[in-house]
Amino acid sequence: MEAQLQELKKTDKEIQLLVHTAALLQWDQETGMPAGAVEERSDQLALLEGMIHDRLTAPRVGELLKKVMEKFGTPGFSMLEVDENAPIFFEKAFLRSFGRNYERAAKLPRRWVTEMAQKSSRAQAAWVEARRNDNFPEFQPHLEELLRLTMEKAEILGYPEHPYDALLDEFEPEMRTGEVARVFNELQAKLKPLVGQIAAKEPVDDSFRYRTYPADTQREFSSRILREMGYDFDRGRLDESAHPFTTSLGGKDVRVTTRYNEQDLFNALFGSIHEGGHALYEMGIDENYHGSVLGEGTSLGIHESQSRTWENLIGRSVEFWNHYFPVLKKDYFPEQLSDIDLEHFIRGVNKVEPSLIRINADELTYSLHVILRFELEVALVSGDLKVRDLPAAWNEGMKRLLGVTPDSDAKGVLQDVHWSMGAIGYFPTYALGNLFGAQFFKVLREDIPEVDREIARGKLRAVREWQGENIHRYGSSLTATELCGKISGEDLNPEYFIQYLEKKFGNLNDL
Ligand code: ZN
Repeated sequence: MEAQLQELKKTDKEIQLLVHTAALLQWDQETGMPAGAVEERSDQLALLEGMIHDRLTAPRVGELLKKVMEKFGTPGFSMLEVDENAPIFFEKAFLRSFGRNYERAAKLPRRWVTEMAQKSSRAQAAWVEARRNDNFPEFQPHLEELLRLTMEKAEILGYPEHPYDALLDEFEPEMRTGEVARVFNELQAKLKPLVGQIAAKEPVDDSFRYRTYPADTQREFSSRILREMGYDFDRGRLDESAHPFTTSLGGKDVRVTTRYNEQDLFNALFGSIHEGGHALYEMGIDENYHGSVLGEGTSLGIHESQSRTWENLIGRSVEFWNHYFPVLKKDYFPEQLSDIDLEHFIRGVNKVEPSLIRINADELTYSLHVILRFELEVALVSGDLKVRDLPAAWNEGMKRLLGVTPDSDAKGVLQDVHWSMGAIGYFPTYALGNLFGAQFFKVLREDIPEVDREIARGKLRAVREWQGENIHRYGSSLTATELCGKISGEDLNPEYFIQYLEKKFGNLNDL
């Protein structure tokens, strides 16, 4: 038994080494690779991905898992019932995660995996062109192909209630379509009137953010905030890329990227804080999990809860800027901010305005963009919506949810890369992150009553330590559902996020 378990752990370790090697190649591709290397790089990555898939789905792995599982119990068990200080905790959690990955990968035939890789690679190129030409019909046949493959995947993998469950499960394990629909409906019903009330007010002047802010100074300030958040530059680095991201190249190498726009103070700043939140999660994972399947965040929703807590709940709070605005103004941008006071700055940071592009959306309207994508994905996967009717459905949804209508597909249905990658089921995790984040932060405030005063003094350590203790260290040994229950004593509940938004934006806008 022990030997069989060791063999599985060895296989897992090799897989993680390959995963981190691939991540390094990807990081290099995004940050510094010469353009001419793109084809060779995609061959290198495809080779590594094939090796990872072959190792994970080897018949030997299936045999070993079957034998070891019999001893440890079926995969349906809850880790909350296992003593986390007992050695068995790691073994059970490891088998559950590794077994889950194996099940998923082994079910999908190689034919499907290869076809998806080829079709999505072509679809991404077609999407870039279609967006540039503002011409959805160029992308339509590609998306139809990807949707067909995605629906086939759902049937191969199986699902409890709705085919979309199978897709969601890849990014947010255990989450169900019906559950997401329920919380999103509740969220939408509260957000729309709040956005309407603010839209009726005098618009906030945030023109100061579009003055000229040299990139070098922006970099210095972002690095300082990252350091004070607790991001460890001995185990990470900050670089530039077209699309900001966080990547783990191992347990002790967690890198973040950002993008500087000299005509916009907020882009790189809040982008860096966001990625810093992701990175603190990865950096805070128990060292005993490094190099194993447990050594990463447990779900995209939980990951996003950490980034959004730092970016919004902390980074856009009155308390945070109480400390950091005087610093920003005095030491970094004295000229640009000379006529701006703290209150003006905070209102600018929290300006609410329904807009067309998700990634530029404010904290309040952001979730509505995500809800639209979820509704459309479910309709597509259910067969209730045809791809050719997607642009019209998009525009109708934007009008209904946000009260704005795009004048082009480039600023509408073609704006996101996700569908061209075949990543259907991913979007909900962005809004779920907001919900988990607010639910956890409420508990943090109860556990540390002085936390707001600490933040207002620029002391961010208490937040990071609480997150480390309650969330980060577990890696993926606890599922999102287990973490949520353990921390808050209940299932995911949108009420906390709604209360937080109503209070914050009510105060800021004198509602
Ligand atoms: Zn994120």
